[in-house]
Amino acid sequence: IVRVAGVTKSFELGKLTVQALKGVDLSIRSGEYLSIMGPSGSGKSTLFNMIGGLDKPTTGKVFIDEVDIAQLDAFELAWLRNRKIGYIFQTFNLIQVMTALENVTLPMTFAGVPDDEAAEKGLELLGLVGLRERHAHRPMELSGGQQQRVAIARSLANNPAIVLADEPTGNLDLTTGEEIITLLKNLSSQRGVTVISATHDYKMLNVSDRVVWIRDGRIDKIEERDQLKIVVGGIGKEH
Ligand code: ATP
Ligand code: MG
Repeated sequence: IVRVAGVTKSFELGKLTVQALKGVDLSIRSGEYLSIMGPSGSGKSTLFNMIGGLDKPTTGKVFIDEVDIAQLDAFELAWLRNRKIGYIFQTFNLIQVMTALENVTLPMTFAGVPDDEAAEKGLELLGLVGLRERHAHRPMELSGGQQQRVAIARSLANNPAIVLADEPTGNLDLTTGEEIITLLKNLSSQRGVTVISATHDYKMLNVSDRVVWIRDGRIDKIEERDQLKIVVGGIGKEH
């Protein structure tokens, strides 16, 4: 569903050039749960931004369903970002002046879904993450874990084929992080959503179909689920 071909990314900062990605090739299968792991500064978020069409590679290409996303016009790119991909960020990125429900329905409104239909679907998605009764609350009235659950509900608003999560558990305590991981895992195993998560959280290893280890802008190794040796805590053991 996603193919990254020879992607490099350099950032120019005055006279300094930072090579964040030094040639990445990766194919991601539809419906898989893929974790991108690696040390801080290794290029995880940069790769995340390339895959999500949030930034452009310096060289190389990103294909989504075999379409080179660099060839999309502004309208098609907006469609991709709103309909095909759902995004989850470490800092939740909710709109503070909007209620939980309004945050979730916003992408549907952009997509032209009528208000009543969007509200119904929004409540259903909040129900999926266990927050239906908190729909009228604003982000500041919710805990971090609850805010991240709202962000997950929002990411699903337009039934994306792909959910991209950058450090989704980075700002959460261990237990809350586990709840979020379980939710993400259920998305891929029960709804067939392709989940791509950049993370430091070793608990992700327990639920991942594959893990891409990146180091210094390059893929170090790719491990399949049965090659994964590290198991942390109880989460995901049944898989
Ligand atoms: P972390 O685990 O800390 O989130 P990461 O693996 O996500 O790290 P990236 O954010 O992808 O790492 O950064 C990779 C490298 O690219 C770093 O050296 C970083 O400083 C640099 N970098 C990232 N974004 C920019 C930018 N917009 N301008 C300049 N340099 C950048
Ligand atoms: Mg990062």
